[in-house]
Amino acid sequence: MKAYGIAIHGGAGTVSRAKMTKWKAEAYKETLKRAYSMAYQTLHKGGSSIDAVIEAIVILEDSYLFNAGKGSVYTHLGTHEMDAAVMEGKKLKAGAVASVGYVKNPIKLAHTVMTKTKHVLISGEQATEFAKDHNLEIESKEYFYDEFRYKQWQKALMNDKVQLDHDEDGQKFGTVGAVALDKKGNLASGTSTGGMVNKKYGRIGDTPLIGIGTYANNDSCAISCTGHGEFFIRAAVAYDISARMMYNKQSLQEASNEVIHKELPALGGRGGLIGIDKHGHIVMPFNTKGMYRGLKSSKNEEFVGIFE
Ligand code: ASP
Repeated sequence: MKAYGIAIHGGAGTVSRAKMTKWKAEAYKETLKRAYSMAYQTLHKGGSSIDAVIEAIVILEDSYLFNAGKGSVYTHLGTHEMDAAVMEGKKLKAGAVASVGYVKNPIKLAHTVMTKTKHVLISGEQATEFAKDHNLEIESKEYFYDEFRYKQWQKALMNDKVQLDHDEDGQKFGTVGAVALDKKGNLASGTSTGGMVNKKYGRIGDTPLIGIGTYANNDSCAISCTGHGEFFIRAAVAYDISARMMYNKQSLQEASNEVIHKELPALGGRGGLIGIDKHGHIVMPFNTKGMYRGLKSSKNEEFVGIFE
């Protein structure tokens, strides 16, 4: 039988063990587990990797716990500007959105860009209009309000800091992503985020950039990244891993370890990623104290964790 499986992440950063109460850790783990379990069922029933990826990400976007969809962080101007991307590895089709407001599930919007337009990446108010035209759910500003996020933003504003959501105090955690391999051997990847706390000037991170925060290619791997986006952009992370596998014959593990533990730190970049290759090998390297993550595969592997 051909292997299949799903891996997900909910952001990487300085997670404080001391501030992570048992109850809180359980809430995060329960949501991660629900997301990968639903997606795994889809794969088990013969569903596609892209459907599984979207299914997992929608569950995480709908949770206030993660910095994506409902739980998105505040920008400098007090708005929510979300980025998301999906890619499938068979024909290298991709769709992405940047700086969109009010859309309940940016990952569905990214998928609609992939399936219903000739474009790959669309942005801003016109992207929200496009979502309305395609009957995707639009939410009010109140839907995206969260007391913790609001206070986090106020503090960042006072200190004039642009920060990774996850670095605040470990109470709320980050960007979400999923990678999957289905029974037909097709790989897919997706990532969704509210970006960095207090971001300015319409800043866009690595998440919606194909080949950077999100990438899938049936000949190599599917990758979804999380961390300080500017460094991931400069290191062209996701495509670099795929290229190392194709041209350098590195394994997914070797390639992703070199990028996360050597290339990125050399630039000063912090974060992590999840990856799966065409054989169903899953990797989850990170160079931060923790990364919310989970996986389930047909090889009887199941895992959910936060710290190393
Ligand atoms: N990579 C995201 C960004 O820079 C942030 C994150 O992963 O939390 O927008």
